[in-house]
Amino acid sequence: MFNKRMQKLGEERSVIRELFEYGNRRKSEIGAENVFDFSLGNPNIPAPGRVGEEIVRLVRETPAEALHGYTSAAGSAEAREAVAAHIRNAFHAPADASLIYMTCGAAASLTVTLAALCEDGDEVVVLAPFFPEYLVFIESAGGKPVVVQTDAAFRPDLAALERAITPRTKAVIVNSPNNPSGAVYTEGEMRALASLLVRKSEKARSPIVLISDEPYRELCYGAAPPYLPKLYKNTVVCYSWSKSLSLAGERIGYIAVSPGCENAQTLFNAVCGAGRSLGFVCAPALFQRVVAACIGTTSDLEKYRENRDMLYNALTSYGYECAPPEGAFYLFVKAPNGDAREFSELAKRHEVLIVPSESFGVKGYVRISYCVSRDVITRSLPAFRTLRSLFS
Ligand code: PLP
Repeated sequence: MFNKRMQKLGEERSVIRELFEYGNRRKSEIGAENVFDFSLGNPNIPAPGRVGEEIVRLVRETPAEALHGYTSAAGSAEAREAVAAHIRNAFHAPADASLIYMTCGAAASLTVTLAALCEDGDEVVVLAPFFPEYLVFIESAGGKPVVVQTDAAFRPDLAALERAITPRTKAVIVNSPNNPSGAVYTEGEMRALASLLVRKSEKARSPIVLISDEPYRELCYGAAPPYLPKLYKNTVVCYSWSKSLSLAGERIGYIAVSPGCENAQTLFNAVCGAGRSLGFVCAPALFQRVVAACIGTTSDLEKYRENRDMLYNALTSYGYECAPPEGAFYLFVKAPNGDAREFSELAKRHEVLIVPSESFGVKGYVRISYCVSRDVITRSLPAFRTLRSLFS
């Protein structure tokens, strides 16, 4: 009677959302202070004061019809120019406002980009572990996800990528800093990927597009990730301010088609067409103005480093195994019993909510989002210690 696939997607919900909803129910039953919710990547650090000031200023000074009305579908000229200027200044890379498309966050950037690129059956390569919604977005665009495992340290495995890329490969999605592993890919690793893509594109006589999914670009605890359009010309950047400015609920981001892309203008036209067909009329008008004014500013992201250090040091001292995250705000920890789902269920009984790794495309890990208050981390540690001791 209804669209079966949509019905299934709606009924299944994501494992992360399911756990989050469970957490909310549990908090109302036993009190929020007794539930240690590490399920969602919802920034707990407030947006910088500048964001609030800008909102107030805009509301006071702009006539309402101008403030809240539609902008051009691709975004206001001011916002698109601000993004292009920021890319030029921050990365010393070419950027053109006419190739910037403002979106409702990285999720929209990805769905629009994939719809712009894919025709039925085109393959899109993703590196596991990956953001689970990639599979939904690719399939919705008519594409076929091809999952390639990273190596034991969650670094890109070039040999595996080489085997996975076929003449039907339309795009490769790279997410660095990575959700959920916390890996930040080095310039060397990305140069190697770029030369593989050049070789494979030449062989297929059609460019393979590198989609750089960058909601965590600024959340980096060591060397910053390279700006991928400088390494590979056929790159489309999917960015959002959800994490960098803690604006996840406001839904604001962009797509930057690199001017170096083959047929960049045609690709941009396809992005506009995809946005149109998906009903993204324009990105939120107020927040286009806010981000244009605040571009380059971030929330106090150092707080995440403190959370990372605290949780990583404590958990490894209890005997948990995990690589120190280089970026984003997730700890990806080996389930001590080897079974992620079982361990996540067990953790629930200790009121600890952590996400099993199967939906990220790998087995045997749990993801702990540490974008939570210091207090939640401190009070959760005895439960983590008890859970680990069950398997010593
Ligand atoms: N890509 C990755 C890797 C993410 O982790 C997320 C959200 O957590 C998104 C995309 C979607 O981001 P947004 O909230 O900006 O749509």
